[in-house]
Amino acid sequence: MQSAPTRPEPVKAERLLDVRGIKKHFPITKGFLKRTVGYVRAVDDVDLYINKGETLALVGESGCGKTTLGRCILQAIKPTAGEVYFTTRKNDKVNLVDLPYDRLRVVRRDMQMIFQDPYASLNPRMTTLNIIAEPLICHNLMRGNELRGYVGELMDTVGLNPYHLERYPHAFSGGQRQRIGIARALATKPRFLVCDEAVSALDVSVQAQILNLLMDLQERMELSYLFISHDLGVVSHISDRVGVMYVGHIVELADTPTLFDKPMHPYTQALLSAKPVADPRRKSRRIMLEGEVANPSKLPEGCPFHPRCRDVMPECKTVKPQWREVEPEHFVACHRAQKG
Ligand code: SF4
Repeated sequence: MQSAPTRPEPVKAERLLDVRGIKKHFPITKGFLKRTVGYVRAVDDVDLYINKGETLALVGESGCGKTTLGRCILQAIKPTAGEVYFTTRKNDKVNLVDLPYDRLRVVRRDMQMIFQDPYASLNPRMTTLNIIAEPLICHNLMRGNELRGYVGELMDTVGLNPYHLERYPHAFSGGQRQRIGIARALATKPRFLVCDEAVSALDVSVQAQILNLLMDLQERMELSYLFISHDLGVVSHISDRVGVMYVGHIVELADTPTLFDKPMHPYTQALLSAKPVADPRRKSRRIMLEGEVANPSKLPEGCPFHPRCRDVMPECKTVKPQWREVEPEHFVACHRAQKG
């Protein structure tokens, strides 16, 4: 991986986003009358915040609820319960969950998403100009030559040649397509981006270029990111803080150096033990997790991780661990986590 620019300091520890008790339960229906017989608890009672200019990464196995949480925050899907407070440009704190549609539409200009698959997320029948201009046309912000000129500037910003405005997505490589996706996300001059596995589908060398571009844009445009990934190497490179998810719950959240040096939750410890170390002399001490990931429609009683936990205690099987701050800004949901 290429060397990265030094991480910029977050602009200020000012809250941009405050998520409280967010839940998303999908009903399981059965029979002709579609009777609800249960719920898949994709996201279950999650609290987090994101400061202006910072990157919060969410890591966890596939299906743990990272993407659903990102979509709930953007109100792309309505959460079952909880609040999402967003600080607007006028410094008002609004709860996106309760916001009427016309006001939500305005606030949405400030929140965009970069998708995982640069092949599937771009319409093959649209030119680059139309793809990048789409959010501006939807929000009725620009048209004509002004729009064309602005899209050209955006292409230049993300490292694409503005002369390729009329090209179709198939004429670009994977990395270039992801740059088109980033330009589209930047079109409305947002302040918050959800990057959903934004580099997972790319080659390692291209990954580094896109990560560096994201960090550079963050510094120049004072962006805040929710960076969803399963790749701990990428996360350690880009994030200020990291949250670890397990079947719809965040089980640990801390600043990046603390989480990587001093993980407290047994699940975080197991995930980190699987991270490759670039030193052939160091023996890896991988923690192998036994059993299967819990079924989010039939979560075990007590701690959802207890059937796989090597440190399980009798109380873990009956009492759900509280989400506690064990050190300043280090939160863990585990009975064994000791206050520092
Ligand atoms: Fe393991 Fe118990 Fe902590 Fe859950 S609460 S992670 S079962 S030690």
